[in-house]
Amino acid sequence: MLTLNTDITKISRVGAAAAKRLKKLGIETAGDLLFYFPFRYDDFSRLTPISELRPGASANIVGRIELIQNKRSPRKRMYITESLVSDDTGEVKVVWFNQPFIARNLRVGDKVSLAGKAEDDYGGIVMMSPVYEKITRGQAVHTQGLVPNYHLTANITQKQIRFLIKQIIGLARSAKDWLPEEISHAVKLLNLGDAIAKIHFPKTTADIDRARERLAFNELFLIQLQSQLIRRDALRSVSAKVAFKEEETKKFVDSLPFKLTGAQRKAAWEILRDMEKDKPMSRLLEGDVGSGKTVVAVIAMLNAALGGMQSVLMAPTEILARQHYGTICQLLSNFNVKIGLITRSVKKMYYVSSIKYQRKREEKNCLNTKYIILNTDIIIGTHALIQENVEFKNLALAIIDEQHRFGVDQRKALMKKNPNSNVPHLLSMTATPIPRSLALALYGDLDVSVIDEMPAGRKKVLTYAVPEEKREGAYNFIRGQIKQGRQVFVICPLIDISDKLGVKSVKEEFEKLDKKIFFDINIGFLHGKMKTKEKEEIMRDFLDNKIKILVSTSVVEVGVDVPNATIMMIESADRFGLAQLHQFRGRVGRSEYQSYCFLFAGNGDYGVPLSDKTLKRLQALVNCHNGFELAKMDLKFRGPGEVYGTAQKGFPELKIASLFDYQLMKQAQDAAVKLINQDASLNSWPELKEKAGGWEKAHLE
Ligand code: ADP
Ligand code: MG
Repeated sequence: MLTLNTDITKISRVGAAAAKRLKKLGIETAGDLLFYFPFRYDDFSRLTPISELRPGASANIVGRIELIQNKRSPRKRMYITESLVSDDTGEVKVVWFNQPFIARNLRVGDKVSLAGKAEDDYGGIVMMSPVYEKITRGQAVHTQGLVPNYHLTANITQKQIRFLIKQIIGLARSAKDWLPEEISHAVKLLNLGDAIAKIHFPKTTADIDRARERLAFNELFLIQLQSQLIRRDALRSVSAKVAFKEEETKKFVDSLPFKLTGAQRKAAWEILRDMEKDKPMSRLLEGDVGSGKTVVAVIAMLNAALGGMQSVLMAPTEILARQHYGTICQLLSNFNVKIGLITRSVKKMYYVSSIKYQRKREEKNCLNTKYIILNTDIIIGTHALIQENVEFKNLALAIIDEQHRFGVDQRKALMKKNPNSNVPHLLSMTATPIPRSLALALYGDLDVSVIDEMPAGRKKVLTYAVPEEKREGAYNFIRGQIKQGRQVFVICPLIDISDKLGVKSVKEEFEKLDKKIFFDINIGFLHGKMKTKEKEEIMRDFLDNKIKILVSTSVVEVGVDVPNATIMMIESADRFGLAQLHQFRGRVGRSEYQSYCFLFAGNGDYGVPLSDKTLKRLQALVNCHNGFELAKMDLKFRGPGEVYGTAQKGFPELKIASLFDYQLMKQAQDAAVKLINQDASLNSWPELKEKAGGWEKAHLE
């Protein structure tokens, strides 16, 4: 019998190959499949009579195959399937390319449903490569009504996955509902089985909204429950008190090459005050890219070090960790603080030896993680830090940079590094400017400090969507900037040249710029598949202004700080989300120099014009410099059927809820608080307790 636990291979028409591909999507059982939700819907709910087809418009028609045949294209390179389809109002020509099997699947006399775009054909109308579906009995799944679209990997089609889900949708009713009934009742939520059935096969858009609300609530509720449990737990645990060393802190601040902003001072003050307590701090430090979070973190770490305690700063990428290490060693070079760097491939430490009043900075490579951890005050690294099973001496402060890049488990692991039961104070940093109210609603267990003020003298990054015909001009401008000593980023979506028409790749752009455009200028390239050593060398050369132009993939998206770079040029910008583009833009404008962001988009070299939607999206970036607003717009641009809210980077991973579900988030929070007040052991709700599962167990016992 089919159950939620049934292995995916037992479902009819899932062969070994398909099972392997489904596994890549995390789908191994019927239940996984059921909980694989669509991210948007095509609206084919209106049928268009053939006589009313208009060129340029998408339409769904139902008709009878009058004629169907395969042909070879004149130059014999391609199969063309031509068909004639009729309904009561008229006939239309339909064409598919290189899918000769269609002429076998569809026969004269078959009733078909077609969804696609009608185009002009020498005055007549033709439907080009529509999605097709033979209607044998009842309703069409792929071409009529609201048709779900799923995020898929290569070699699984929308049709396949819909077909599979359709087969097992009856199981929706047996999905275990762990949400206590009193809650779903109070919030007036759809029951879980209906919600699952409707999220896959809605009849109306209202169905989608209701289903989504229910599933999103579940997701938000679990997050809130976890947050609240952590908060309770934190109130019970003990941290080392870190005293505020006023004099040295002042000395440090005075030694900076700039004046701290008011917002930086305030944030630092809030953090230092938290750290003076013996209850663990749990604070989110948020500030838009370039607002100067790092130096605030350094103030906190310095205070811990001065008190003889350790801090750790964990960054999501090796490039960033290395950069932090470099910056921090420099900032603290006048203090007697030992600093370590631990990533997968680089391990070293930096210290100041003072022999007879003569201070000397020294750095040494050291492959022994344990040695570094036990002999430094400030440890910087990537998640390699937590993989190494080493305890700290006395970890008082854990800082996580770009916190959304880390999972709950990684954060937790970092918190358990002390030999005694002391919990380190936790500071999470994020560049995603979520409004404070939303941050509090989302992370119920955190306090929030906001750096809402940019360092003085920063100029807005002037942003332009550059049409292809002005590319020359942009290159000349870049040349001018380089002459003045500045540097340039060029971002491309891909590493290698691909067959995706017109999407720019790092290797191709590098070749072009290096050989044809800027042959007299030193150019480097960077991407995630390079060896760490190569990456490091390139980054160092770029930082040292030896490389003037760096062609890179999105690996430089977060955190990278090269103040001398003033131009961010983004190729195939339409391939990135707005929030992500904003992050790229944040790589420049980090100094007093005026900076620029040039957006190139579309298949410029192939002469295909950009769609209105793309132009509007890019225009939004030109006009708006607020990361949160941009993230919101991103959501809007992806269309009303779009269910996902968090596919863009910079937010916690949500499968179906959106960050803009502020109301629902509040409701989930209230419900979680109420529930915990009622029975913090969760014993009254065994299914919920099981769902809350693994890591909470420790809290609940
Ligand atoms: P982010 O908040 O994105 O992590 P960083 O900490 O990397 O920003 O800081 C961006 C740049 O701004 C760095 O080069 C840093 O030295 C500089 N900076 C930080 N604070 C100030 C300030 N108050 N005035 C001028 N420059 C600053
Ligand atoms: Mg940063």
